[in-house]
Amino acid sequence: MAPIVIFWHRRDLRLFDNHGLFESLQSGYPVLPLFIFDTNILEKLTAKDDARVTFIHERLRILKEELEDRGSSMLIKHGKPIEIWHDILKNFKIAAVYTNRDYEPYAQQRDEEIKVLLKEEGIPFYTFKDHVIYEHTDIVKKDGTPYTVFTPYKRRWLEQLAADGGIPDFHSEGNLENLRPSPPLHIPTLAELGFVKTNKNIPPAVVSQKTITGYEQNRNFPAINGTSKLGVHFRFGTISIREKAKKAQLLSDTYLSELIWRDFYAMILSNFPHVATHPFRKEYAAIKWLNNEEDFGKWCQGKTGYPIVDAGMRELNHTGYMHNRVRMITASFLTKHLLIDWRWGEAYFAAHLLDYDLASNNGGWQWAAGCGTDAAPYFRIFNPTAQQEKFDKEWKYIRKWVPEVDTPAYPKPMVEHKFARERCLMVYKEALAQNKG
Ligand code: FAD
Repeated sequence: MAPIVIFWHRRDLRLFDNHGLFESLQSGYPVLPLFIFDTNILEKLTAKDDARVTFIHERLRILKEELEDRGSSMLIKHGKPIEIWHDILKNFKIAAVYTNRDYEPYAQQRDEEIKVLLKEEGIPFYTFKDHVIYEHTDIVKKDGTPYTVFTPYKRRWLEQLAADGGIPDFHSEGNLENLRPSPPLHIPTLAELGFVKTNKNIPPAVVSQKTITGYEQNRNFPAINGTSKLGVHFRFGTISIREKAKKAQLLSDTYLSELIWRDFYAMILSNFPHVATHPFRKEYAAIKWLNNEEDFGKWCQGKTGYPIVDAGMRELNHTGYMHNRVRMITASFLTKHLLIDWRWGEAYFAAHLLDYDLASNNGGWQWAAGCGTDAAPYFRIFNPTAQQEKFDKEWKYIRKWVPEVDTPAYPKPMVEHKFARERCLMVYKEALAQNKG
């Protein structure tokens, strides 16, 4: 059996400008791409029509076709990664395994386990940076510790980029002749994976130049189609962050800044993995959340009586997307007005957002709850009505998602703003005082 190299796709479902794939294709061995539908992840998804599974499945089908046009194919497996790898080791003679790094705690633990298994067989496991521009400890303070505040991080990020002479390309697409020849391989059907096709639309992987040049002006208004809607594609690597960041450098500093937020939160998660389950600022663990399930249900369904909150939640439930401004408003409302643990909201978003990404979702929720890095001070509590007047003045977004808003069928506000604000201040103050004492 001739030795081969395996390139393991995870958050990088593309053949072009793919760092790890590029390196594998330079290895001198024929490369066989692999993807594993990981049951450790799939088993946690409760909706059988989860749109992300349909998206990945469809994307893999296209990738496999692209590979088959070149006389190769993709090995697509379904199961627990460790078991799949045991099987692969039995069936192939492997010179090395290449992959791109994933910074989520589960992924890190999985990769460590696979690395150990491969090592026992004398097989190296090479990993590369592809998901972000700068990772982990690429950008640190003068004393070598990670940044925890965005603005100085961003300044340093931009300096580093200038020092590096820009963003590199990895022309993986130019070396595909080094793929391993293969007959077409099997792709499990959605039904075999235990899922059905979604009826949600996945936004396309393209964005107009006009959207990016108008981004700064339009991005805060949910009634305007003023953001890129590329989140899901960044999440699954169906587009290249390097390519988009290079475009942003030319077209919009504000758009580039949002991409730097993405690097920032990935960096926070990899340096402070406790944030995945606990507040970044440990003193906030003492907050006495009310966690009223009935209140939570109203928030989830978009029946709070605050039109901008309800519009956001209904947009999320219907489409798998929610505008960033409205994510901030709904998250603030849940944590501050209803005093519900940010982790409940985080989990709800995780189940429903097409672009769900642990690092950014967690960062956004901890920011809203005031317990994260760079958090808005806890005494700054969004007034949903004032937010609505500022960002959806003509009620266009609200009327789209809450058509009954002007009728008696629409509920009264579930909690009065002034009362909720004072209650929140008291509960936060108590928790922080307790911590000091
Ligand atoms: P655009 O405005 O067009 O921005 C382009 C890209 O920049 C985004 O696709 C995203 O990759 C990145 N980006 C933009 N804003 C942020 C930000 N604040 N933090 C990190 N990256 C950013 N983003 C996710 O990708 N996944 C999540 O699960 C997620 N959950 C969030 C939860 C809360 C409570 C909040 C307040 C924000 C969350 N965000 C999340 C950040 C942001 O809301 C989304 O990235 C953005 O709305 C996606 O829409 P878009 O692609 O049109 O973004």
